[in-house]
Amino acid sequence: MAPVIDTLRLTAEEAATLLEGGEVSAGELRAAYLDAIAERDPQLHCFLKTVDESEGDGVPIALKDVISTKGVETTAGSKILSGYVPVFDSTVAARCKDAGLQLLGKTNTDEFAMGSSTENSAFGPSRNPWDPTRVPGGSGGGSAAAVTAGMAPWALGSDTGGSIKQPSALCGNVGLRPTYGSVSRYGIVAFASSLDQVGPVAKTVRDAALLYSIIAGRDRCDSTTAELPEPVRLPEGDSLAGLRIGVPTELNEAEGIEPGVREAVRKAIELAEGLGAEVGECSLPRSVRYGLPCYYLIAPAEASSNLSRYDGVRFGIRAEGESYQELVERTRDEGFGDEPKRRIMLGTYALSAGYYDAFYGQAQKVRTLIIDEHREAFDRFDVLACPTSPTVAFPIGERAADPLAMYASDLLTIPSCLAGLPGLSIPCGLSDRLPVGLQLIGPQFGENLLFRVGHALEEAIGFDTVPLRWRTRSDPVRGQIPARVGSDPTGLTPEETV
Ligand code: GLN
Repeated sequence: MAPVIDTLRLTAEEAATLLEGGEVSAGELRAAYLDAIAERDPQLHCFLKTVDESEGDGVPIALKDVISTKGVETTAGSKILSGYVPVFDSTVAARCKDAGLQLLGKTNTDEFAMGSSTENSAFGPSRNPWDPTRVPGGSGGGSAAAVTAGMAPWALGSDTGGSIKQPSALCGNVGLRPTYGSVSRYGIVAFASSLDQVGPVAKTVRDAALLYSIIAGRDRCDSTTAELPEPVRLPEGDSLAGLRIGVPTELNEAEGIEPGVREAVRKAIELAEGLGAEVGECSLPRSVRYGLPCYYLIAPAEASSNLSRYDGVRFGIRAEGESYQELVERTRDEGFGDEPKRRIMLGTYALSAGYYDAFYGQAQKVRTLIIDEHREAFDRFDVLACPTSPTVAFPIGERAADPLAMYASDLLTIPSCLAGLPGLSIPCGLSDRLPVGLQLIGPQFGENLLFRVGHALEEAIGFDTVPLRWRTRSDPVRGQIPARVGSDPTGLTPEETV
């Protein structure tokens, strides 16, 4: 009889061990995830497409739909790209294939990764597994919610200003936005090229490190990539002795941070101290004050240029027109949703003659100041810590009509993205029965450091990544019994305690 696999709890590392030991076959593992998708995705809508068959005999994976996959439709959550089937694999998709990973499907995203809730997806929002009336975050809400809901052991997302870290925080799992230039952007649907970076979403820090090691490193198809200065180390151990953790005042006391979020993060930092870390305050005054405005000039400016390629001739849908001009105008009018249109207008304005210096040029200067103040902080500290998102998952619809409120979701993730630095979000507790994310920011190529701190803290915190509503009284502790026979994780018993 085929084993019943509890995909809600199984980590990718455990899945690999089961495969290696011959306890499950690649096909059985895949079937378990496809069953979970069939059961839970009608409610959560994490997948835009599932793939029935896939090469590879390794651990399954889901990819955000901005990642080009040969022969598999790639829409970036936009109507303008519907029907577009890439004839090539992005480098990250190719590296996953080379590592034997089986593609489960493509996950939902805000259109062109523009958003913080997946509500901007042209194909409808995804929902948060902890509370389906709430958003899973965005833009990579599909990937994050899929991992939490046991519909994929791990997934890839993309992060321009927070789209890996913030959804991971809201869904209660681990997300890494890597150092700019450590992961190839070749074949990623471009949003803002000086910021876009692909990275892993997983249940554990070790899984995130493992997946990062598969995708990272120089790619000759992307000249902005670099060789990693040191190999990726899978973290183990719980000592943080000798480590200096900086707590940026402005990022921990910014207006709008919910008290429950602040408290959970404060406790996690205290735990780090208990593990031997030296904790001290530092200051990033410009990051919070100017981060958002700076990002909302640079990202739309780059987006307005990147999105000019969608003309109805080369990709996706085409509207009819009497002339080429009319064809292009109609295609873009019908194909783009409100948010990309808003950003194209903002970006075009910021780049236009007469305004370029005042807006785009000025934002670039501010970006340099933000880079500098991070560099100074890393003269004194190894890692910085603060909340990932100011709030826990918010109700669907709450910020959808108010772009500024939506943009504020990334207040704390954006500064380090502008500085090109890696950031890891790990779950650090609950507030209002919803997950809170702790953001750890590292120096350039400081991923190993982040994995070490993240892993030690994850062990100390002992956060259970299974949403409260899916826990049963008999649930084992994570990691103890990877494959359970006869369990029905969705045989929903009433909510239990943390
Ligand atoms: N929410 C931010 C935005 O809308 C960041 C998105 C992202 O990281 N892709 O631009």
